[in-house]
Amino acid sequence: MYLKALTINGFKSFAKKGELQFSAPITGIVGPNGSGKSNVAESFRFVLGEQSVKSMRGRRGEDLIWGGSESVSRGNRASVEVVLDNSKRQFPLDFDEIRIERVVHRDGQNDYLLNGSPVRLKDVQELLASANIGSTGHHIISQGEADRILSASVRERREMIEDALGLKVYQLKKQEAERKLDKTRENIAHVESLRREAAPHLRYLEKQVQKIEKSLEVQKALRAAYVEYLRREDTYIAVHYDRLTAQRREPGAALEAVKKALAEAKATLREAEGSDSKSAEVVAAEERWRAASKERQGVLHELGKLEGQLSYVARRLEERARRVETGGPAIARSELERVVAAIEAQVTDAVGRDDLPALKRTLTDVVRKLRILLERAPSATDDLEAHERERGELERSIADLRNGMAKAEAAEAAAEAAYQTVRQNLETEAAGAREAEREVFRLVGEQRTLEAQVERIDRELEGLARDREEFKRELEEGVALLGRAVMQYYQVPLMVDGGEVSPEAMAAEDRNIQRTRRHELEKLKIRLEELGVGATDDTMREWQEAKERDEFLARELADLTSSVEKLSALITELSAELHEQFFAGIDKISVEFNTFFTLMFGGGEASLTRVEPKVRAKAEDEEEQLADDEPDENDVGIELNVKLPNKRVKGLEMLSGGERALTSIALIFAMSQVNPPPFIILDETDAALDEANSRRYGDLIEALAKKSQLILITHNRETMSRASILYGITMGSDGVSKLLSVRLEEALAVAK
Ligand code: ATP
Repeated sequence: MYLKALTINGFKSFAKKGELQFSAPITGIVGPNGSGKSNVAESFRFVLGEQSVKSMRGRRGEDLIWGGSESVSRGNRASVEVVLDNSKRQFPLDFDEIRIERVVHRDGQNDYLLNGSPVRLKDVQELLASANIGSTGHHIISQGEADRILSASVRERREMIEDALGLKVYQLKKQEAERKLDKTRENIAHVESLRREAAPHLRYLEKQVQKIEKSLEVQKALRAAYVEYLRREDTYIAVHYDRLTAQRREPGAALEAVKKALAEAKATLREAEGSDSKSAEVVAAEERWRAASKERQGVLHELGKLEGQLSYVARRLEERARRVETGGPAIARSELERVVAAIEAQVTDAVGRDDLPALKRTLTDVVRKLRILLERAPSATDDLEAHERERGELERSIADLRNGMAKAEAAEAAAEAAYQTVRQNLETEAAGAREAEREVFRLVGEQRTLEAQVERIDRELEGLARDREEFKRELEEGVALLGRAVMQYYQVPLMVDGGEVSPEAMAAEDRNIQRTRRHELEKLKIRLEELGVGATDDTMREWQEAKERDEFLARELADLTSSVEKLSALITELSAELHEQFFAGIDKISVEFNTFFTLMFGGGEASLTRVEPKVRAKAEDEEEQLADDEPDENDVGIELNVKLPNKRVKGLEMLSGGERALTSIALIFAMSQVNPPPFIILDETDAALDEANSRRYGDLIEALAKKSQLILITHNRETMSRASILYGITMGSDGVSKLLSVRLEEALAVAK
């Protein structure tokens, strides 16, 4: 005995708590119409997890809760608890008693409790399925429902049979596996779509990473190139700078000295060339000399003249002396006075006559007479005394002149000497200037030579300075591109053919080689720039993350795929199991069906046959056809074949109401026999039976009760008489169903 008790509280018409004990194989429930008997059968459905409110004659969950009456207010919850015996561990739970309770609240919420602990519906279903108490309720035959198995579609019937065969547990497992499979496939699709979505970005990141790797390579090459270039360049510049500055030192100093000497020479020259004033001085001296000479000559001339005069005077004095000696005529004064008187007379006469030619003649005669006179006239100086005086005067003058002459001569000599001195000086200085000029020329030449030398070195130094600028720029760029580590270029020994390159070798190297290196450097820089890698670390991290995520998804996909395989295998396995058990079960049921049928009808024959999907597709309506052409055991239908004794007609359609009832009972019982459920509830299944059939029904019930507990809701006295326990249900004016144990007599009274 599995079923121990049922407690109804607030369910439908059972406003108050009521309990039924099922301590016997057959329990009968009796009561007048509308007292709430069917509500008891529905309370079983309810507690066993029925999800169709309709099958419990309600529209909403709320309809299952006591709705209230005039005297008893409505309830807020309905609960039903069933107590099952598990002392034989039919249920895979380590309890002797299993209590399943379901509660529905007004808000529609349902709670399930297993031995007082909340559980899910699924848990309840699984537990019940494990003890062959399926949810299709094949073991709960509601009022007027006995016929249902006959009128059901092949598929419904198939489901009932599956349920009856206890295949529910496989079905559930299979459904669960299918659900999981669907879910897994969904997950696969989801994961695939995630991967697909992420793929372009991942590819992009991969490309970026490749670029980064490439760029790291280029950076490495660039760093090596930089180190060599910088090392060589720095060394080259340093060595040559030292060399050139050393080379420049001597000519530089010499040039400075030459410049100084040149400045001095130029100053000297300028001084020498400043002798213009000197030559003016010479000219002035010369002038003075010439003036002195002229002075002297003037004095000399005067002297000559005076000496001439003196000699004349002397001669005259000598002559006079001689004349005195000789006595020569000299015109007497008397004579002269006479001549003058004659001339006067003559002129007066001439004037008085007023005759011009006579006048002219007279005048000419006068002049002649005067001339004769003059001839004879003694000179004015012909005066001894005068001459003597003159001579004395002349001699004094001459003496003075001679004195002046001496002075003039001295002055001339002095002027000449001065001139000579000045001239001499001038000449000496000119010679000095020439010397200075030569020196200047020499120094200029020397300066030029030195300048050329220094200039050549300076040009080289300038070249080096430019190189140094370039070097600095390059170093800065290197630092910008590769970081400060580049600055350590001098720490890395530069090796060529296993030997370290000496600074001298670096300095002596052909510049073209270094230029080529620089060119290479530029090319690498361009490559690096072309790769255009931005924030390396971020990209690498992002790629790492994206890759890890993708790998994670790939693993998940692999897991899911393997789950799909496993689930598919499980489904196949379960399907095979179901298939096998189902077919075997049908055959068994068919045999039992025939047995019960012939028992019920005292003959005839009945069987179950499988309807294969394709055959059925032709026979049944189009709606039941599956789009899938593949036959599936799920599509296998069940058909009933019945043949009544002594009747020619065959088929269910030909049966009377009572015959249909008997047939369905036979089938229900047959199903129960193959895989007996722990209990069967039959709600007025016997309603349509006549007395004879009621007896047969009673016999069958007793047979059936050997394998399953029976709860029979009935008005049939025959049926009641087979029950060991009877419960009466009454309903008073308050609309509340009440339970009470009754004796058969009481029950029979109710049945009447
Ligand atoms: P019969 O012998 O005629 O089949 P029965 O004994 O099977 O009758 P039920 O159908 O179980 O009677 O009970 C029907 C009664 O239960 C009705 O009176 C109905 O009003 C009452 N009932 C159903 N649902 C509720 C509810 N939610 N609240 C109160 N009463 C309800």
